Amino acid sequence: MNKRAFLEGFFTASTVAFGGHFMWQRINQQSPLLASAPIIDPRSAAGESLASFQFTAIELKSVQPATGIPLPAPVITPSTNPNTPFEVAELDEAQVESYLRKIKNFDAIFASDIYLDPRYEPLLLRTTQHLSRVEKHIGHGNFNLMSFDEMLQHGRDFSQIGKFEADEMNFIEEVFFANPHRYGFFGKKISAEITDFIPRNDVAKISNTGHFLLKGESEALYNQIKKDVGNEIILTSGVRSIVKQMHLFLAKAIEANGNLSRASRSLAPPGHSYHGIGDFDIGKIGYGAKNFTADFSRTAEYQKIAKLGYVDIRYPTDNLFGVRFEPWHIKIA
Ligand SMILES: [Zn+2]
Repeated sequence: MNKRAFLEGFFTASTVAFGGHFMWQRINQQSPLLASAPIIDPRSAAGESLASFQFTAIELKSVQPATGIPLPAPVITPSTNPNTPFEVAELDEAQVESYLRKIKNFDAIFASDIYLDPRYEPLLLRTTQHLSRVEKHIGHGNFNLMSFDEMLQHGRDFSQIGKFEADEMNFIEEVFFANPHRYGFFGKKISAEITDFIPRNDVAKISNTGHFLLKGESEALYNQIKKDVGNEIILTSGVRSIVKQMHLFLAKAIEANGNLSRASRSLAPPGHSYHGIGDFDIGKIGYGAKNFTADFSRTAEYQKIAKLGYVDIRYPTDNLFGVRFEPWHIKIA
């Protein structure tokens, strides 16, 4: 299949609409599959929280209607040509204001948000559930490291997972290769190939966390932070493979009713996560889902971290990645 031609029809822009009521109707209308879902707190069930992260078929259908107030926003037209990326620096004042409003209200719906073509919703759901079966089979810890080829192999080898069908593989590839600028994510691509993986010899298992860190700089930085801040600090997510990030992103897209812009404001699309090259997330033991909210920045532990001088966060407020403020996400140089 011609990838570029397929891509052209893959994403669809929402029409410009101001006012919550119309948007709300539009969302329901767009997502008949997801329309009758009960309300859940997006930060309790999904987010980036991984320790207790497991989707079941029922949870996957429990998509919450959008939260937050839909704000009228000037429409930014991102480049759809991967060779001419959208430059935030070139925006005029109104566009910058709109951009900042979006990352501050990351869970709100904006008129210019880009949606997955609703025709792909059943495929989105089926593929995500398939990945959930893989994760269930090999366990959360190992799933963090799983490569694309291993994923396919497991599907072939284990009947409880099932072979990945051609349409699912195409879908996964299209999500991986699509230019995320078109839905408002501006972070750079970390992994060029979908088959890129992290060799097991390069990672260290971090006890009591179910997560891994790259040996060397990441592991040393984590240990240093724990030493300086205390044992209240815990690794909440370390190395994440493309497959792991794909699963998180697709689940996020479901949760956002197909709104890819909203999904990518709080989770990097697969291939774009710095978790693939050594970044990691930390939290405070006992702080639960709040570790993945701005509240973490108000803890004594974070205040200490901020004063250490050697710790940098990847997504500060007003960052140019198109991503919300993430005080928990530690940047590797
Ligand atoms: Zn992170």
